[in-house]
Amino acid sequence: MGKSYEIAIAGAGPAGLAAALYLKRAGHKVTIFERFDAPKPVGSGLILQPTGLTVLADLSLLDETLSLGSRIERLHGTDSGSGRTVLEVRYDARRGRRFGLAVHRAALFGVLYRAALREAIAIETNVEIETLKVGERATLVCGNGRRLGPFDLIVDASGARSTLRRYLGDAAMPRPLAYGAFWASLGWRGGFDKRALLQRYDKASVMVGVLPIGRPELGAQEMAAFFWSLKPADAEQIKAKGLDAWKARVVSVWPECEAFTSQIDSFEQLSLARYGHHTMTLPASRRLAVIGDAAHSTSPQLGQGANMALLDAAALSHALAHAKGLDDALDTYAKARRWHVRVFQALSLSLTPFYQSDSAALPFVRDRVVAALARVPPGPQLLAAMVAGTVIDPFRRIGLAELQWPALG
Ligand SMILES: Cc1cc2nc3c(=O)[nH]c(=O)nc-3n(C[C@H](O)[C@H](O)[C@H](O)COP(=O)(O)OP(=O)(O)OC[C@H]3O[C@@H](n4cnc5c(N)ncnc54)[C@H](O)[C@@H]3O)c2cc1C
Repeated sequence: MGKSYEIAIAGAGPAGLAAALYLKRAGHKVTIFERFDAPKPVGSGLILQPTGLTVLADLSLLDETLSLGSRIERLHGTDSGSGRTVLEVRYDARRGRRFGLAVHRAALFGVLYRAALREAIAIETNVEIETLKVGERATLVCGNGRRLGPFDLIVDASGARSTLRRYLGDAAMPRPLAYGAFWASLGWRGGFDKRALLQRYDKASVMVGVLPIGRPELGAQEMAAFFWSLKPADAEQIKAKGLDAWKARVVSVWPECEAFTSQIDSFEQLSLARYGHHTMTLPASRRLAVIGDAAHSTSPQLGQGANMALLDAAALSHALAHAKGLDDALDTYAKARRWHVRVFQALSLSLTPFYQSDSAALPFVRDRVVAALARVPPGPQLLAAMVAGTVIDPFRRIGLAELQWPALG
């Protein structure tokens, strides 16, 4: 084992919790600081890709996660007007048994959080970190002036609106993207493919999605994440027109979705998600490592965010275990993740407008090109690798190998 460090982690999201598990198991003294009074998941559901599942397997948390999530074999999108398939991706296009796992956020959070509790990782809540001071070692400074530390290393896992990354010269907030979405977690209903993320579009300005996300906890009912894309600026206007008008619009695009809209009695059940895009040039240096959304955030169109966060956590731990010292480890971490992060951030930024924008030209191209690409090799393999997060190998440089896919029924 390498040197043991005192490490503070800001944020108890997927990135912070996974990093804490890796670093504690590697023999470091770890404390997580979280601004919520009780750590809790935010949002509805997400897809764990083969990348994120590999990290969870490496943390010995795969079986528990599989027991809660819903196995996804394909992503399928249809244009509501023409009926054309405008998105068709199958995970197994290249390897027999690959799949994604859609989970309720509470399920992923619960799996990581329970593991952190089992390993007696210190978690201090109600602590809002504002900045850090670095001298011999690093001290965290809270909004109320309280100081924490000193620590050998700070891990910034505080999400897209991190204020800590200013210390590395990056004061920018994510650039808002034109479209966001209403999201709701609702009861699962039959009549939809349970092994698929299904989407229905009207050009690129309307997107309805249904994702089976399994259960938030064992014994709970099976759920779906239901989403409707919109410009956040239009949300008030939509609400002013009333719930029934919105439901009628949804059902006009996808009649079967009445099974979900009938479960919505108030706009309060819908959370409005805003998306932003930001990529740090240098995510680690001088006693600070930035991981997860704090280092790179984007729209969820490609479904990589939580997976990237898990890969970052694995990469940081691998770098600390194998580098010569702290500076070397931070440099190694940044280099190991650089190209994977850049390629996926660029893909997400360039693909999002094909599915979420006011453009008429982009969905026109999408409706023709994507359907064709999905049929002609190597198109299916390329699309599958884009969704799986493996267009470039994310594993080798961080000491991982893709998980041995379990044969599931
Ligand atoms: C609607 C939606 C759908 C998505 N779908 C997908 C998907 O299908 N697949 C996918 O992989 N990703 C998806 N994502 C992205 C994914 O949710 C994020 O990439 C992921 O949550 C990032 O994890 P994180 O731990 O880096 O940050 P977060 O999950 O944002 O966690 C940050 C934590 O830090 C805490 N914190 C923040 N500031 C401070 C502070 N100053 N002091 C102390 N604590 C602080 C927060 O309270 C929070 O607990 C989606 C995102 C959204 C919004």
